[in-house]
Amino acid sequence: MHAQIEVLASLQTVDREIKEQAGLKQSLLDELQAKERELQAKQKEVDTLAVAAAEKEKLRAEKDRVFQDEGKKATDKRMRMNRIKNAKELQALQREIDMMRQANGELEEELIKIMQEIDAIKASRAAKEAEMVALQEAWQKQQQELGGQINDIDQAVAEKLSQRQSIAANVARDLISRYELIFSRRGGNAVVEIAGGICQGCFMNIPPQMGNEIIRSEKIHNCPSCQRIVYVKPVPLDEAKSA
Ligand SMILES: [Zn+2]
Repeated sequence: MHAQIEVLASLQTVDREIKEQAGLKQSLLDELQAKERELQAKQKEVDTLAVAAAEKEKLRAEKDRVFQDEGKKATDKRMRMNRIKNAKELQALQREIDMMRQANGELEEELIKIMQEIDAIKASRAAKEAEMVALQEAWQKQQQELGGQINDIDQAVAEKLSQRQSIAANVARDLISRYELIFSRRGGNAVVEIAGGICQGCFMNIPPQMGNEIIRSEKIHNCPSCQRIVYVKPVPLDEAKSA
């Protein structure tokens, strides 16, 4: 087997481990991000309820002011009644006062309804806030756990990278670039074996003549179908018999 390819194959083993770790790290980060989005959504729900409560409070204050004003006007009118002697005028004023009383009664009912609505909004806001606190605690705990796992991954990758560097030092630069290009295009599978005349990367036949050449020559060969770097594993004697 070509020495360079042997080195490339071991480089690929390390690169696959790095790739796997990177994927693992990404999935942990994705998990964290999903939790963060969940938190943000919950915060938005709380904010929306806070806005709704504030609007209702404003409405309550307006209605309350009208209620107080009307109450004062009714009191004034009642006081005026004491000074009026004319029966017709008195009757008219009494009618006015009755109408005002009715209007104020309706206003009072409205006020009660608004206050009940405010209570309901506040209750659901408190519930959402409690949910958020629980979510936040879970998130923080998970963040710590995942942070530890991510640290471990980073450390493992750093080790693998230095391992990679010492392996890569034994391969010609242009071959490394060729290998890296294929590695990224072929999903981390750049160096493959030919077994039974078939490329183990794309499972297409390798022309027999090319297969012989691969065994004999010191040149780097690429699969004519998938362009992966191909090699033939030397077959041990006892396996050669059963094959
Ligand atoms: Zn192939």
